[in-house]
Amino acid sequence: MQLYKSQSLKIYNSLSGKKEVFEPLNEGHVGMYVCGPTVYSHVHLGNCRTFMSFDMIFRYFKHLGYKVRYVRNITDAGHLEDDADEGEDKISKKARLEKIEPMEVVQRYTVDFHNILQKFNFLPPSIEPTATGHIIEQIEIIKDIVDKGFAYEVNGSVYFDVNKFNEQNHYGKLSGRKLEDMISSTRELAAQEEKRSPQDFALWKRAEPQHIMRWPSPWGDGFPGWHLECTAMSTKYLGETFDIHGGGMDLKFPHHECEIAQAEASFGQAPVKYWLHANMLTLNGKKMSKSTGNNILPNEIFSGENDIFSKAFSPTVVRFFMMQAHYTSILDLSNDALLASEKGYNRLMDAIEELENLKVSGSSDFDVAAWRQSCYDAMNDDFNTPVLIAQLFEAVKHINLIKEGQEKITEADLNMLSLAVKTFVFEILGLERKHDAQGDSQVLSGVIELLIELRNQARINKDFETSDKIRDQLLELGIQLKDGKEGTSFTVS
Ligand code: AMP
Ligand code: ZN
Repeated sequence: MQLYKSQSLKIYNSLSGKKEVFEPLNEGHVGMYVCGPTVYSHVHLGNCRTFMSFDMIFRYFKHLGYKVRYVRNITDAGHLEDDADEGEDKISKKARLEKIEPMEVVQRYTVDFHNILQKFNFLPPSIEPTATGHIIEQIEIIKDIVDKGFAYEVNGSVYFDVNKFNEQNHYGKLSGRKLEDMISSTRELAAQEEKRSPQDFALWKRAEPQHIMRWPSPWGDGFPGWHLECTAMSTKYLGETFDIHGGGMDLKFPHHECEIAQAEASFGQAPVKYWLHANMLTLNGKKMSKSTGNNILPNEIFSGENDIFSKAFSPTVVRFFMMQAHYTSILDLSNDALLASEKGYNRLMDAIEELENLKVSGSSDFDVAAWRQSCYDAMNDDFNTPVLIAQLFEAVKHINLIKEGQEKITEADLNMLSLAVKTFVFEILGLERKHDAQGDSQVLSGVIELLIELRNQARINKDFETSDKIRDQLLELGIQLKDGKEGTSFTVS
């Protein structure tokens, strides 16, 4: 029997503002769409937190025995600098500044995104579609919305008519806003002149002659609005109504509100049963963000090359730190918090190693079955990983007492305990064992130090051919040597 039949999962639905019992549209199946990154720069740790929350959720659904189709897109066109359809496309801008093709920008940062996620031990989504790969689908949806009278064309751009939509629907139901209040607080911007109302949003934007990312359409050359790609890709792969849509809290408005409006206007039905929003990672109490520069990149934390943290932290310790907070709570990143997480992680891993050495007895002092159910209860309560971790430390306490001979456990209970601890820690939280997580990087550091020593020796001997070869070939492998007053240091990208 699949586990989901015996475990009742409740999830917090941002749309209703309540925890609801999860009942998928199709028994045994879960369709989940999560807004992916805009690939115009490196992902920061804040972005990683949101994706990690959904990785954990994906893992738990799979563990419960559901067949999950998890779609997480790549935004490689259409995301403008300003939410009010103003400014340049973020990817075009980067391409212009660096004098490279937009698709080179996309390739570079998509590869970077995948590398980072792999370090954090993410599971790949079932489908990872791109906005540029779905231009035809987006044009079809726009045509449909125009035909149904909810969008209008002006000078080669097409805008969604929010007032028209709001006559029979509620624009703002996800973010709890009223259209009248939104209109009175909206800024007047140049591009708004074409709109009937400032709240209207672009489905298609006319491409000015200098705009490089452009596609032909019934309205002339242009590019799709950012909100539309998610409607096109989610409904293409998951159906006109699907189970779960996720993303960071900051996407609730306007992005997700617009997605709801587009889908309801086109398909005549609500697109999503459960909306899930992950909360923000902050640094110095402020939201981590690409645009303000208040952020830290994952590699800066893994290598220790930054001014904020006293040492390097492994990806799995950072993951453990993030899992210690509920995904709907704000989490502040600090050196002290990471040091505490590292301690906790080490204690947990030490106890897992001890499981192999525990002696069994004829009776148990620890009710393992009840403990295991309390772990499920934590996860079933809107994926409450901090409570799950507290339960795991409850197990650590018993493991240590059994080790010291102060408690007893039967063989059957020990097997159950061992399997459950490993399942929750590795399969569901996605943590990695100490030696898997640290061993590789320690060995790598050792080898690089050795090469640095050989290079220094070669330089002393004026054998510059060898010293340059070591430096250049390491660079090709993504390892950069930096010569300074204190000696040679290195960074791994
Ligand atoms: P972007 O690449 O800017 O579209 O963002 C990708 C994802 O990261 C979105 O789901 C955002 O909501 C999320 N995100 C952005 N900043 C943060 C942050 N500081 N903490 C958590 N998630 C974030
Ligand atoms: Zn989206």
